[in-house]
Amino acid sequence: MSKTLADTLAARETMYVNCGHPACCKMTKLDIQALIDKLGLDHGSMHWDLVGLFGCSDCKAASRDRRPVFFTCIPDYAGIQARRNRDWKPNFG
Ligand SMILES: [Zn+2]
Repeated sequence: MSKTLADTLAARETMYVNCGHPACCKMTKLDIQALIDKLGLDHGSMHWDLVGLFGCSDCKAASRDRRPVFFTCIPDYAGIQARRNRDWKPNFG
């Protein structure tokens, strides 16, 4: 199954991009809307769709070898919880 940046935005997921170098381990939140502005709504949002787009400027500046980044995707737990419980009422019967 493929997933697009539009899907990620609609699901209100939070994505972080992490430097894969153990001496660095920098991490920052991805701006999904900015990615969409740049790449389009239909661009994939899976690892292989995005991994080639990012390099670590800190590692480059420190002349460390370039390691691929990896992504952390955090679901909108609060939103999922709210939707799941929207029509739920405790029953005192
Ligand atoms: Zn780095």
